[in-house]
Amino acid sequence: MSFASLGLSEALATAVAAAGYAEPTPVQQRAIPAVLQGRDLMVAAQTGTGKTAGFALPVLERLFPNGHPDKAQCPGPRQVRVLVLAPTRELAAQVHDSFRIYARDLPLSSACIFGGVGMNPQIQALAKGLDLLVACPGRLLDLFERGKMLLTGVEIMVLDEADRMLDMGFIPDIERIFKL
Ligand code: AMP
Repeated sequence: MSFASLGLSEALATAVAAAGYAEPTPVQQRAIPAVLQGRDLMVAAQTGTGKTAGFALPVLERLFPNGHPDKAQCPGPRQVRVLVLAPTRELAAQVHDSFRIYARDLPLSSACIFGGVGMNPQIQALAKGLDLLVACPGRLLDLFERGKMLLTGVEIMVLDEADRMLDMGFIPDIERIFKL
């Protein structure tokens, strides 16, 4: 089975081939079509089974159908359309790196934000307008409360390692972010 046969554009198929992926893993074969259909999805699979690409690739296809910016998107400044929450800065950075690798031939505007580092570069990135944001919940809410971002344009939310985030006590933050 090929990535293209799952409904991914040439830009994405080329990027995964360059990353050395010969074919989709089982979790990707099941997750990619479901995300492309716009369904809600809960995925449980062990580390190393390719879950990240399982959501990142179809999310990028939804942002750039057939490799082109989504015409249905309103003109004007870019609003965050995809929000990926992750429990730790390491995971957030890793997921963001994966998105960048897969989106190498797409005009994706994205950023990664987490606590423990200065806010100014993150505030500047948000001010530019982003399609996709990967964030840890605490810093995201902090920036939101400072009026640095809007979440009203979010169409797709991903909770990466949701079980760990819930174990770490992020439930109130996540519920708040969903409401926003
Ligand atoms: P993950 O489970 O998302 O942490 O991915 C584990 C590793 O598998 C990462 O290094 C990915 O780059 C790699 N990977 C993801 N999908 C594939 C694939 N279809 N073929 C080969 N490697 C993959």
